[in-house]
Amino acid sequence: IFQKTSAVNEGKVAWKEGEAVPYSALASTFADIQATTKRLEITEILTQFLVRVIKRSPDNLLQVVYLCINRLCPDYEGLELGIGESLLIKAIAQSTGREVARIKKDLEAQGDLGLVALNSKKNQPTMFKVSSLKVPQVFKQLKEIAVVSGNKSQDRKIGMIKKLLASCQGEEPKFLIRSLEGKLRIGLAERSVLVSLARAVVISKLGKNISKLSQESLAKQLEDGTEVVKAVYSELPSYDLVIPALLKGGVEGLRTECKLTPGVPLKPMLAKPTKAISEVLDRFEGKPFTCEYKYDGERAQVHLLPDGKLAVFSRNSENMSVKYPDLVEQIPRCIKPSVKSFVLDAEAAAWKKAEVNVEGVMEPAKLLPFQELSRRKRKDVKAEDIKIKVKLFGFDLLYLNGQPLLSLPLAERRALLQEHFTPVEDEFDYARSEDCESVEEISVFLDKSVKEGCEGLMVKMLSGPDSTYEPSRRSMNWLKLKKDYLAGTGDSLDLVVIGGYYGKGKRTNVYGAFLLACYDADSETYQTICKIGTGFTEQDLETHYKTLKELEISGKKGYYDVGEAKPDVYFEAKVVWEVLTADLSLSPVYTAAKGLVEQRGISLRFPRFIRIRDDKTSEESTSPEQIEAMYRSQVVNSSKGKGGGGGG
Ligand code: ATP
Repeated sequence: IFQKTSAVNEGKVAWKEGEAVPYSALASTFADIQATTKRLEITEILTQFLVRVIKRSPDNLLQVVYLCINRLCPDYEGLELGIGESLLIKAIAQSTGREVARIKKDLEAQGDLGLVALNSKKNQPTMFKVSSLKVPQVFKQLKEIAVVSGNKSQDRKIGMIKKLLASCQGEEPKFLIRSLEGKLRIGLAERSVLVSLARAVVISKLGKNISKLSQESLAKQLEDGTEVVKAVYSELPSYDLVIPALLKGGVEGLRTECKLTPGVPLKPMLAKPTKAISEVLDRFEGKPFTCEYKYDGERAQVHLLPDGKLAVFSRNSENMSVKYPDLVEQIPRCIKPSVKSFVLDAEAAAWKKAEVNVEGVMEPAKLLPFQELSRRKRKDVKAEDIKIKVKLFGFDLLYLNGQPLLSLPLAERRALLQEHFTPVEDEFDYARSEDCESVEEISVFLDKSVKEGCEGLMVKMLSGPDSTYEPSRRSMNWLKLKKDYLAGTGDSLDLVVIGGYYGKGKRTNVYGAFLLACYDADSETYQTICKIGTGFTEQDLETHYKTLKELEISGKKGYYDVGEAKPDVYFEAKVVWEVLTADLSLSPVYTAAKGLVEQRGISLRFPRFIRIRDDKTSEESTSPEQIEAMYRSQVVNSSKGKGGGGGG
């Protein structure tokens, strides 16, 4: 509970009303946050700071929040930091007059480039007094660094970083370098930033009236405010829009000002895995549910803006309109004239039209596997060069003609989808569905889906309050039933490749095995989970070698929590693979999900490579909590003597 007495806490770095926020004030807040691991304390420290920002420099609030979450703009604008290590090392070397080799050595010893920059600066004699950095200036520079491209862009980036470093004082170099790396690593999760923002706005609005409130009613207002901000942000994930609205009308005005808006992609609703069909029935307890084909393609959130513009977004809010010019061209043909604006949730799958084969026999149209889709280029796609066609399968309608539909039951959203969109041969259809009731019915439908080229089924709550659309949530109201994985863990994992082991025998020219990790958003660390050397063809290994060789780094990053793993080389955390495992076990070597089940981490037994997931970023890999859930469900099942199985 917020301490009323500390509401006017000055912090360590003060500044005057109307002035820009000193970067040192932000850096000192980061240092305070880093000094504790308690979530409540972290929220409290940041809330206090944001209250001061709102009071003195409200125009800087947006930039402060972006710096706290290590971003420069909403995800869909696609601008990000994450500057490579070698470039940062050069900038630190040039700015502090030290040799690159020394910096690399320090990095090996200290494991944190931020710390290396801090110490390098500390030992540097200062000839003249530097002017103090302000938040808007740092933010602007970071944005410029991220934007620079083309000729000599590396040198220009180094030049700009050098300049910033030269103006840094105190703890600033540490956080500046970490921001440039794209990992602040102070234990500040984005949801804590959102909570602190909501609380700071409520407190600022209350002003002096805060002292008239009882502790209970203050706590209630803070809690309610937080719920509103969280809900609104999940519908409209853009601080560019939410923060000005909060400053203008407080939490009360937020709901009317900010709603799901075509053009701003929302984070998709996700599903929980299931290991047996009987689990589906247990979960839905007699409530109506529906089974849909789980198409094996790429998630596509299609937006039609009132001005007629169409945009297609990926599951991580990347604008895919350039990748799918054919989709953008096709979609208008499935929209009825009654539709002026919409947000459609769908899967884009590779599709082969019906055609007469070499023997003169007509082959029916069919779905193609995900691998075919992933062969398409991601950039500079020209409609005339496209060989692999895509067909869109709509499964949800989230917005229609000015109205968000998220709080309607699925049955109603689906009815609207079918009323306003028409199937078009080879281009668009509704996701095939059946409202099954028994294990047998589900099992038959599951088999049918797989025969037709799907991964399995999605089973969804169909009506009632649990069937609303829950943006960004992995919900129990959506279950995935993947046929191939029913006998094992129920689902595959998406893991980041952070290390490599040189090959032996026939594999000496490539990496023969790899170190995989999951991403823990709370600590901003990659936690290792297994060494994998199975499931690769020779061709795969060559492709991986080409991609990963470019990502080799000089040593382990400070934010790689590797445990006892000892790969021959480390990579930048960029590549995500889908991996299958026989089961999960506690491990003395690896660190995934450590502390969640036991102090030890969890590892995969007999991991096998399935495919590259280039539609997922490394931070979207399977989370420690998901790994914990998989581990526990396996323990429960085996203790019941059930084993995994049960799939039709
Ligand atoms: P995660 O593991 O985070 O759930 P994922 O992309 O690995 O993400 P999957 O296990 O493949 O997820 O299952 C969910 C995905 O299935 C959705 O994101 C969507 O792309 C796809 N999908 C295919 N058909 C449907 C459908 N009918 N309803 C919902 N999602 C579907």
